Amino acid sequence: MPAPTSANDSTRDPEKLAAALRAGDRRALGRAITLVESSRADDREPANRLLEVLTPLAGKSIRIGISGVPGVGKSTFIESFGNHLIDKGHKVAVLAVDPSSALSGGSILGDKTRMETLSRRVEAFIRPSPAGSTLGGVTRHTRETILLVEAAGFNVVIVETVGVGQSETAVAGMTDLFLLLLLPGGGDELQGIKRGIVELADLIVVNKADGELATAAERSAADYRNALRFLRPRSVRWQVPVETCSALEGRGIDRIWTLIEKYRDTMQASGDFTAARASQARRWLWSETAESLLALLREDPAAAARMQTLEQAVAAGKLSPRVAAQELVQNFWKDGKLK
Ligand code: GDP
Repeated sequence: MPAPTSANDSTRDPEKLAAALRAGDRRALGRAITLVESSRADDREPANRLLEVLTPLAGKSIRIGISGVPGVGKSTFIESFGNHLIDKGHKVAVLAVDPSSALSGGSILGDKTRMETLSRRVEAFIRPSPAGSTLGGVTRHTRETILLVEAAGFNVVIVETVGVGQSETAVAGMTDLFLLLLLPGGGDELQGIKRGIVELADLIVVNKADGELATAAERSAADYRNALRFLRPRSVRWQVPVETCSALEGRGIDRIWTLIEKYRDTMQASGDFTAARASQARRWLWSETAESLLALLREDPAAAARMQTLEQAVAAGKLSPRVAAQELVQNFWKDGKLK
């Protein structure tokens, strides 16, 4: 009988971890995510290796961003939607915001499980990220986590975020389709949701279309349909649908999946799907490059010392930030090489 390996041992061996993840070992998937999220210097090498092995095996999913203000019903919706998809034979990964952690660091409300029935299913994988420390639950590592769950065989990936603006742009930049959940009523003021977020949406759904709210939900949907006519469409091939649903009663969920499939098929047929992913990957490369260069600059003692002097001069209004930045960079790089 093989001796049980400690979490650390297999974390150190990216090949083994990748193989276990591919074989459907959920704990291996969890450990892989922890590894790529790690900021420890000695985790960097195995994390890179893991991504190197798994990236070519990823990509075979539809990536869905879901957003909406707290209370709109995101977790109720994802639970209902996720269960529905699993019943149809899909495997669903949810990279979710954990609202409890924003308040308590995970302790006070930590016991309350969101998406309880979904989390019990083997075809589902839910990874909460602490809302407090990140941009609406979206971390710098969410993109990498998407690749890992795809390599593990999940073919529907849902990235949830709360309506705080910047996080929506980030999520729209890493998903194939952006679904915005709205509440009945609300009307023109768009419920505190910025117009920019509505412009990101590929699909708008008014939730809670049940009981006393049913009529209001239909009216809101009609209002949004009208309002959308004045927005520039994201694609000439896609008229953004506005639907209603009741996540609580599971009504309208199937229709939403049908629309998502239609969107995917339309975009794949035109080549836009692949083109959008390629452009997302290119932008990701540039942002990683910028991050890496900045990290090098910060780690360099001479540059750090120079930065202090420049910061003082800039703060005192004696030097323009643009000139200071150029000086810093030119001192750091010489003839195309790090000095
Ligand atoms: P989140 O903060 O966006 O994740 O919202 P939740 O899923 O936690 O839902 C907030 C509240 O709205 C809860 O009390 C839910 O039971 C309720 N809710 C969610 N979906 C529906 C729905 O379709 N109809 C009704 N009537 N209530 C809902």
